Amino acid sequence: MNEHLDPTNTNYSSDEVDVEKKLRPLSFNDFTGQDQVLENLQIFVKAANLRDEALDHTLFHGPPGLGKTTLAHILASELDVGIKVTSGPVLDKPGDLAGLLTNLDERDVLFIDEIHRLSPIVEEYLYSAMEDYKIDIMIETGPNARTVQINLNPFTLVGATTRSGLLTAPMRARFGISSRLEYYNTDLLTNIVQRSASILKVPISMEAAIEIAGRSRGTPRIANALLRRVRDFAQIKGDGNIDVKIAKFALKALNVDAHGLDEMDNKILTTIIDKFKGGPVGITTLATAVSESAETIEEVYEPFLIQQGFIVRTPRGREVTALAYKHLGKIKDTQGGL
Ligand code: ATP
Repeated sequence: MNEHLDPTNTNYSSDEVDVEKKLRPLSFNDFTGQDQVLENLQIFVKAANLRDEALDHTLFHGPPGLGKTTLAHILASELDVGIKVTSGPVLDKPGDLAGLLTNLDERDVLFIDEIHRLSPIVEEYLYSAMEDYKIDIMIETGPNARTVQINLNPFTLVGATTRSGLLTAPMRARFGISSRLEYYNTDLLTNIVQRSASILKVPISMEAAIEIAGRSRGTPRIANALLRRVRDFAQIKGDGNIDVKIAKFALKALNVDAHGLDEMDNKILTTIIDKFKGGPVGITTLATAVSESAETIEEVYEPFLIQQGFIVRTPRGREVTALAYKHLGKIKDTQGGL
């Protein structure tokens, strides 16, 4: 994928990591969009704070780069507790998890990113920790080996996943709060671009902020990444200010089209039209035809193409819409074949 439009791209240089940290909203008030999710979370956090209890276990799901990690940190800060961060693939064995769990203070947040990638034995181990705040640990080795049950401090597990469909039913059932994050509209992304520009101290015109926002695939991570690149162009090719002219120039140079579609998006649409008469086509067949993994198509490309109205999912597979034909300047052949 065009690296500037890849919502999973977090290959930042150390300077960029610092910038990324600066741009991360730190409180509910700082966070733009996802109004319903935020309203509910604010109530749950207030109630947990009043009762001096741990917040219920919370699951965030939705496409990459929409703010799941950011919200986990905000929850910890609004609960005024500590946070430990890990991710599904890193937790190899129950012992890795036990180490984290026994080090949590009362009401702390344990954030597990990519929670759908936990191994089954680690996942099972997590169940009793989540339910009763108890875990079994093995002490000693050899003939003296035995398990003892230890009590944990009440804590909040915050899980994040881009693939909620891959979560097991018992895992899902253990989350008292489950919030789906949606793509951001251009107005919200414009606010995010303006906020980030002001933190980075780069002057930006309203029109330029809208231009960047409109090409950011509904994703704050992409909006911030494009802003940083456009800022480079403004500095080197302009006078440091971001106006719409330099924004358009930079976005063209970065190969970002007006809808934020990249080469692979266009390839997916063109392939469905040219090779499969507009669909329906199954995901595996499509993946082979465009030489991309089915997982990446389902996780990264398809949600955005569906949200933008270029593709629909039917029980028989993916179909392109009239909008896709229009976008690619193609005519739908109702006789079959193009
Ligand atoms: P992934 O699924 O890849 O882990 P994520 O959903 O956890 O992604 P974050 O890392 O929380 O996404 O967000 C990506 C970046 O986008 C953050 O660094 C943050 O600066 C910015 N961001 C996300 N949501 C918002 C928002 N609502 N307002 C302002 N900035 C945001």
